Amino acid sequence: MSYDSSNIFARILRQEIACQKIFENDQALAFKDIDPKATHHILIIPKGPYRHFHDFHQQATLEEIQGFYQAITHVINVYRLEEKGYRLITNCGQDGGQIVDHYHVHLLGGQPLGPLVSCPF
Ligand code: AMP
Repeated sequence: MSYDSSNIFARILRQEIACQKIFENDQALAFKDIDPKATHHILIIPKGPYRHFHDFHQQATLEEIQGFYQAITHVINVYRLEEKGYRLITNCGQDGGQIVDHYHVHLLGGQPLGPLVSCPF
């Protein structure tokens, strides 16, 4: 399956729809999740057209990967999350529960986050 540029994060990157931006560099954009699951719930996305974790890590340049992780680190610092902790999640594909097919990492923090997953069976 190839990247579909009609997804909502691609539209945010093209500034066709608004987002609550937290940080941006040449390689990545960070913005608030529209349906927050924690006190702080930020999405960090690469600017390039990558569908998910392994697409990104197989195809992206070192510069893109470095810029992406620098953006995550920057947002962690903005919210001072390193002291009490935080959670990074990336959902991939059907079983992973991925809804938006543009690679993204969820950064959650600002409160105790509970167990990693709820047991579905
Ligand atoms: P997932 O693909 O399951 O990892 O999650 C996609 C996330 O994108 C969900 O947490 C949504 O709440 C979030 N989301 C969807 N549309 C928007 C939007 N326009 N702005 C910010 N977050 C969004």
